[in-house]
Amino acid sequence: MAVDLAKVAKQKNLRYFLISYTDLFGVARSKLVPAAAIGQMQKDGAGFAGFSTYLDMTPADADMFAMPDTDSLTVLPWNREVGWLAADLHMSGRALEASPRVMLKRQVERAAKKGYRLKTGVECEYFLLQPDGSAIADERDVHDKPCYDQQALMRRYAVITEICDGMLELGWGPYQNDHEDANGQFEMNWNYDDALVTADRHQFFKFMVRSIAEKHGLRATFMPKPFRNLTGNGCHAHASVWDKTGTKNLFHDPKGELGVAKLGYQFLGGVLHNAEALCSFFNPTINSYKRINAPVTASGATWSPNTISYGGNNRTHMVRIPDAGRLEFRLMDGAANPYLLQAVLLAAGLDGMVAGRDPGKRLDINMYEHRRESEYKRLKVRRLPLNLLDALRFTDKSKMLREAFGDAVIESYIKLKAREWNDFCGHLTEWERNHTLDC
Ligand SMILES: [Mg+2]
Repeated sequence: MAVDLAKVAKQKNLRYFLISYTDLFGVARSKLVPAAAIGQMQKDGAGFAGFSTYLDMTPADADMFAMPDTDSLTVLPWNREVGWLAADLHMSGRALEASPRVMLKRQVERAAKKGYRLKTGVECEYFLLQPDGSAIADERDVHDKPCYDQQALMRRYAVITEICDGMLELGWGPYQNDHEDANGQFEMNWNYDDALVTADRHQFFKFMVRSIAEKHGLRATFMPKPFRNLTGNGCHAHASVWDKTGTKNLFHDPKGELGVAKLGYQFLGGVLHNAEALCSFFNPTINSYKRINAPVTASGATWSPNTISYGGNNRTHMVRIPDAGRLEFRLMDGAANPYLLQAVLLAAGLDGMVAGRDPGKRLDINMYEHRRESEYKRLKVRRLPLNLLDALRFTDKSKMLREAFGDAVIESYIKLKAREWNDFCGHLTEWERNHTLDC
């Protein structure tokens, strides 16, 4: 045991620990453990009934144990007597394969065997809403083009700086905060790191933003498309693959096109090749498809893709090459499970690098001007799935995902998500009544 949490509790004056795992739907589940009991918990793990959360289990299954990863210890900046610990699920003495953090770790191990190390950064957009969630909190934030609006940003100075100060305290290297493209929408950026570190921080960031917003009488949401006429919440991921020491960026090649090495293009080829199958992870909710298939918003652009294409420094495609040695994947949204986002991105990238997949030609066009069937055909670009059910069907058929994660894991995910789809379809909507009452 490298780190003794009982000792750490004394050194850092921690009274409690949150032992936290993330289920397949991205929900953080925790036990709040007093420091006096952390020694035993560190050895045995915290017990949970798996059926009670989004994991493919029955009420008859044995208890699962969440084993805290001491490397992830994060003292809550808004409540310094509590230490948060990301945990891996175990059952009957073995790691639970169909659990997100374990799924990511498996892909990190697969990559390491080939000498690769994925580093990523995520851009988690969110809205600040009134506490009941019905509207944005700032009634004066009504600009048609609200992106980078200084006045609206500074009206939220107290909450934004409390979150940013938290990241500074945690050593994440935050470097900018802004008002985003929708009224009431913000984004905060911190440094990229290894995929697992970024996933833990991503999950913690959502917890921190919601908690600090609540403290200020607001409600934060990462929902992909909370308002029909406004730009949705993306969660763009910047990725590069490094050597196993983490000191050499293997995507960087000054002689490569746009400064990206062949390996980078192969990684990109893997993501493009498998894109439809990745959607149920990158865009995991019913609501997600209202972001990627959105009509033009009040600001003039959705900033989200609906085709499988890439460009240079051009935000109208699914993938952007913003700079030498780095790819920006713009498909993911605010509902993406932080661990599964990284896990399937890495699995698809590995597939591309191993199979030497060719991403095809870059499209140096404004893709937003070509959003019609005839153009998709002419340009030979595939459309993204139009809804969660279509996306799940692609996931189900994906040999790559089944090989990377195992059939049982993929089937568990599809089973739970299909149940969600069926539940949604069981609801009678106002739209149906309006359009069908007089049929
Ligand atoms: Mg953004």
